[in-house]
Amino acid sequence: MHPRSMRAMQVSPSVRAVQVPDDNPMHPDFTTIYLVGRGQVLSIDSGETMDRYRWMLRGYLAAVERSEIALAGITHHHADHSGNLKWIREELGAEIVTAKEAVPLLKGRLPRAGVRTFADGEVIDLDGGVNLRVLKSPGHSVDSVCYYLEDEGVLFSGDTLLGSSTTTVGDLGAYRRSLAMLIALPNLKVICPGHGPLVHDPRERLQQYINHRAMRERQILGVLEGGGALSSWDIMLQLYPDIDKRLRRAADNNVRTHLAQLEAEGRLNLFPGKPRRPDAAKARRDVEHAKQRTQVIAQARKYEAEQRRAEIRAQENPPTGEWIEPPRYELVGAANE
Ligand SMILES: [Zn+2]
Repeated sequence: MHPRSMRAMQVSPSVRAVQVPDDNPMHPDFTTIYLVGRGQVLSIDSGETMDRYRWMLRGYLAAVERSEIALAGITHHHADHSGNLKWIREELGAEIVTAKEAVPLLKGRLPRAGVRTFADGEVIDLDGGVNLRVLKSPGHSVDSVCYYLEDEGVLFSGDTLLGSSTTTVGDLGAYRRSLAMLIALPNLKVICPGHGPLVHDPRERLQQYINHRAMRERQILGVLEGGGALSSWDIMLQLYPDIDKRLRRAADNNVRTHLAQLEAEGRLNLFPGKPRRPDAAKARRDVEHAKQRTQVIAQARKYEAEQRRAEIRAQENPPTGEWIEPPRYELVGAANE
């Protein structure tokens, strides 16, 4: 099948994955909506507010599924997971289920009626004995949850664990506790992530994540054992001396999430630093310079376009700039007639 077309596949007896091509640079392969259960169908995540997700949901349901979505759940509030909740409520009539923590973060994306919240550990009971447990897994975001279908060994991880890349982490301490909780789940066979391919070696992948974070922490502690107080940037430069310079800020952010966790655990002294006061006069000058630069660039573009037009005109017309009267040619003998 063409890699950019929609794909739907059976993951386990009760689970279908509908993969929608994505062109977001943060997750270039695809974003997945999962459908769980037969009689009563629960959808997990709903994609961005874009027609392709809506057409996919409606088209897939019309073409393949005999039943409609009864419940629509999300793994967290981010717009690439919750964009179509209102639409699902209005067009498909499903009840929306979400973690309490997500409600205040879903500003404007929840319908007015038909929303149910659930608590950590609560079981969602679908027809035919399909039971999903809701597991709070904060870290990527404060309201992140996973859904676990233990009977079939299927974990829906949202962005807590992705199919082919590492995720962004807000609270590293919480994130590491969430990973430790997930790796201890009984009967875990496959992870269904919010983006990217299914993970068929879930424990190995979770262990890699756990090890990776533990290694980074040991490295940071190793640098600090050299003594003295260091900034996150100093630590980053020692950890990644050969890093591509364009990735330095990202690496510094990464180091800072670790430092925040270590500090919260009381393992580091924090010297708060001194923020630079915003300089109003300099800000005004910067705005003025930016405006001038934009004008100069716009003028240069205009000249460039004019020049190109002149070149085209020159190709289309005779070289009158070179000749008052151009040379002319006549067949030998023709003038003697
Ligand atoms: Zn996402």
